[in-house]
Amino acid sequence: MSTVNENLIRDVVAEVLQRLGSAGRISAEGASAPASSNGGGRVRPARGRHGIFSDADEACAAAHDAFLQLAEKGVAGRAKVIEIVKSLCERNAREWGRLELDETKIGRLDHKIQKLQGQRGVPGVEFLSPYALSGDHGITLEEYAPFGVIGAITPSTHSIPTMACNIISMVAAGNTVVFNAHPSAYRCAVTAARAFNQAIEHELGIDNVACIVEPPTLESFNAIARNEHVRLLCVTGGPGVVKAAMASGKRAICAGPGNPPVLVDGTSCLRNAAKQIVFGAAYDNNLLCIGEKEVFVLEKFADAFMAALEGQGAHRLSDAQVERLAKESFQVPPGQGAGCPHPILNRDLVGRDAEVLARVAGANVPPGTQLLFAETGADHVFVQEEQMMPFLPIVRVRSVEEGIREAKKAERGYRHSAMIHSHDVEHMTAMARALDTTLFVKNGSCMAGLGLGGEGYPNFSIATATGEGVCNPRTFTRVRRCVMVDKLRIF
Ligand code: NAD
Repeated sequence: MSTVNENLIRDVVAEVLQRLGSAGRISAEGASAPASSNGGGRVRPARGRHGIFSDADEACAAAHDAFLQLAEKGVAGRAKVIEIVKSLCERNAREWGRLELDETKIGRLDHKIQKLQGQRGVPGVEFLSPYALSGDHGITLEEYAPFGVIGAITPSTHSIPTMACNIISMVAAGNTVVFNAHPSAYRCAVTAARAFNQAIEHELGIDNVACIVEPPTLESFNAIARNEHVRLLCVTGGPGVVKAAMASGKRAICAGPGNPPVLVDGTSCLRNAAKQIVFGAAYDNNLLCIGEKEVFVLEKFADAFMAALEGQGAHRLSDAQVERLAKESFQVPPGQGAGCPHPILNRDLVGRDAEVLARVAGANVPPGTQLLFAETGADHVFVQEEQMMPFLPIVRVRSVEEGIREAKKAERGYRHSAMIHSHDVEHMTAMARALDTTLFVKNGSCMAGLGLGGEGYPNFSIATATGEGVCNPRTFTRVRRCVMVDKLRIF
């Protein structure tokens, strides 16, 4: 029998046993072997699962085994894993983009494909050059060492892209990972994880470098967070998961929510400002945490700016239409009045096409419209809440100071992202200092902050809440110092 067939049969048997919840496991040789305990009564992880586990603790144990094996393959082994993940994302960008859209029903296919193709730019092992000191007392090296197994939580908004860039950054640093994906976006992540692990096993002989729990639940999150092998958490999502990760007792890197404001002061080209803002706010139907979510514009330029938005294909809603859309998009929780601090976002409208939102608002828009906008007050719910829809509220302000003040209020202290369109360095500096955000883009779309149209590398985990910034391999390392006293200097 050919090796391909043997592998296929082994995969099928492993899958069946796992689904039956059998105590039997597939051994490294491919034969069915009884489950064995590795000391503390735990079931030993086995090969042939290709990263897919229904039990979170088994996934963590398997990822730990993979971590030990990866260490033996050195930096070259990590580089191979990264190349596999990048190549598979490129090769499967269309198929996986479609799979994710079909499962989640949110966002845009063209941008889902682009987010997968963009994984090529995520930094790898080259990012980890050590810091060296050389002096009269010898030589000291500070090295970026791995943690071990990382527990990672991914969002519904970009499931496979977040998983892929997490794997690249984490494995570059020598770690392995267990994912708990969003319940509405885990099937596509399982497909990608299986493909990654199969290819890694084929190339390096290591299975389960990137594990995933199927199906993900709050219990599986808790099990991952509690597991002894998991040395670090990396969560990407809204306020709930950030709070849960911080309460877990484990060190957590938290890529939390945003509500990025834009200031247009009229000193730069309004046409370019409109073009960049339409591109950013319409990108993947404004699902991105960095996406432009509200614009403050100096009143004397407001009419010209909104005309420029229309010139870029955005469609203006009337006051009545925007109120209809707001009523359908946000609900006040039962028992709370109109002053409720956090209305509940209608998930059915998140990430939907502008044409769908227009129908809800009662507007007719030309086919292919990418973005809706309307003039609102600064306290409007669409300004104050992270809506994740291709709809942009535009607020007139009397001065730059007022614009910065309102932008800071709308950003709500997330310290995530903000944009300014201006040629005035004083305005840029004042806004950057006041908002204190992780990303601050001048005269570009939000995507320039992740290297699309600006300098820099991409990553879909931007650690805002805990301050690590755009994640990269160094984010997932422990700094270890190695000291040689009085020797090794060559002069
Ligand atoms: P979400 O908060 O609903 O879910 C994110 C992940 O956390 C999912 O896997 C979910 O299952 C899990 N989760 C949620 N509450 C949890 C809890 N209490 N305990 C354990 N796990 C929990 O968010 P979403 O809709 O998937 O994604 C959109 C949100 O994520 C937005 O707020 C967006 O700004 C943010 N986001 C941030 C970044 C970033 O890099 N900072 C990137 C993408 C998305």
